[in-house]
Amino acid sequence: MNMDENLVLNENYGKHSGKKLKMLLPEKKLKSRVRDMALEISEGYKEKDAAPIVIGILNGSFIFMSDLVREINIDVEVDFMRIASYGNATSSSGTVRMIKDINCDITGRHILVVEDIVDTGLSMNFLKNRLEQAGTKSLKFATLLMKEDTQIDFGMDYIGFNIPDKYVVGYGLDLAQRLRNLKSIYYIE
Ligand code: 5GP
Repeated sequence: MNMDENLVLNENYGKHSGKKLKMLLPEKKLKSRVRDMALEISEGYKEKDAAPIVIGILNGSFIFMSDLVREINIDVEVDFMRIASYGNATSSSGTVRMIKDINCDITGRHILVVEDIVDTGLSMNFLKNRLEQAGTKSLKFATLLMKEDTQIDFGMDYIGFNIPDKYVVGYGLDLAQRLRNLKSIYYIE
């Protein structure tokens, strides 16, 4: 399969078979940008006194997170949080809740939060409020994707790509829990 092309899902994709996906970010472009982000992050933290804790936000960030930390060339620790916003398959309702908290103590530590995508910014605001109360030494935020129309009211520290306000899938991002395993990022036509 040529990964630079649009995709029509075949019969292996069950309820999504026949769905047309339009290529937004091919695998190669993702890998190269993730590598650049990781180098920038490594540079930013290498003078710090202690290894940062990189916190991935599940489920959407799991592939980005694993590619990113493997390209980071300084000492890091890894942990995960899981949050959910109520809503249907392709839009959020505005209520965020925590499903899994971090296991480690983040007081006095350098923290880098890794998200898959910022849409309304609600999840990021929720995370910021939650983590600011923990007395971290520093708190930074990275996202692979940032939607253009986001209402977020604080600056992200690391952004992979600014993308149009369309629903995207693949590279960890789901459609009703499916299609996370696609290697590139597509939007649904
Ligand atoms: P926000 O709170 O910024 O509106 O949304 C953040 C979360 O909503 C993301 O972490 C992601 O799980 C989900 N989300 C937002 N936009 C998209 C999208 O275009 N595709 C997918 N698959 N998930 C999205």
